[in-house]
Amino acid sequence: MTSARKIKPLVAGNWKMNGVKAALGEAHKVREALAGGSTRPSAVDVMLCPPATLISPLAQGAAGGSLLIGGQDCHVKASGAHTGDISAEMLADAGASAVIVGHSERRMDHGEMDRDVRAKAEAAHRAGLTAIICVGETAGERAIGLTLTVIGRQLAGSVPKGATAANTVIAYEPVWAIGTGLTPTAADVAEVHQFMRQTLGKQLGETAGTMRLLYGGSVKASNAKELMAVANVDGALVGGASLKADDFCGILAAYVD
Ligand code: PEP
Repeated sequence: MTSARKIKPLVAGNWKMNGVKAALGEAHKVREALAGGSTRPSAVDVMLCPPATLISPLAQGAAGGSLLIGGQDCHVKASGAHTGDISAEMLADAGASAVIVGHSERRMDHGEMDRDVRAKAEAAHRAGLTAIICVGETAGERAIGLTLTVIGRQLAGSVPKGATAANTVIAYEPVWAIGTGLTPTAADVAEVHQFMRQTLGKQLGETAGTMRLLYGGSVKASNAKELMAVANVDGALVGGASLKADDFCGILAAYVD
């Protein structure tokens, strides 16, 4: 299955505000699964995005292995008087190679608008990080047929002009599917991902053809294979099911040949 892909998939786990040092044991189990064993997924990049407090120890533990580490948000500035914030440069210094920006929880809890998300993605690029830019419609928007309109607007407003397949990943995360156990049908995901590929093509040109487009929202071991097989789905952004190594590795099994 994976050998026919022209884009190497990425499965990224977003721990959100979960995990103290004891959770490093789960990351260690993921690392071990990646390092060997019969369930080792091939040809897929695997990332964990822990709370900022765990990036450094997780990165140190992951050194020399294939597990990638990401942050969950960043400030637009590199440094300065912004109490409680963390810059993309700080994430990079701690060992992250990517950062999630524009997650719907940031958009809702912190009032982040598309222009804020774009500025954060630009900050990520400035620091040499891959920006994982999240987009997705709410249940209300979906109910009145606005899904593609919303996604188009978010892509236009949130994705920087300098985005390339090398520095940017897009995650389609329907807000109503996050943490609810609900998922769109494979056909719905296919429609949105094809739309994103075309829209990004108009925005960014040829690079959009190989940009990774993730699906996120209640991905678990039991639905991963079906969702990851959808055209233009190049991996997953996983919330709840990334907290336990066994659950997360169950999702990675979708990529075991
Ligand atoms: C998320 O919040 O990015 C997410 C996909 O969450 P969950 O997998 O728990 O739905």
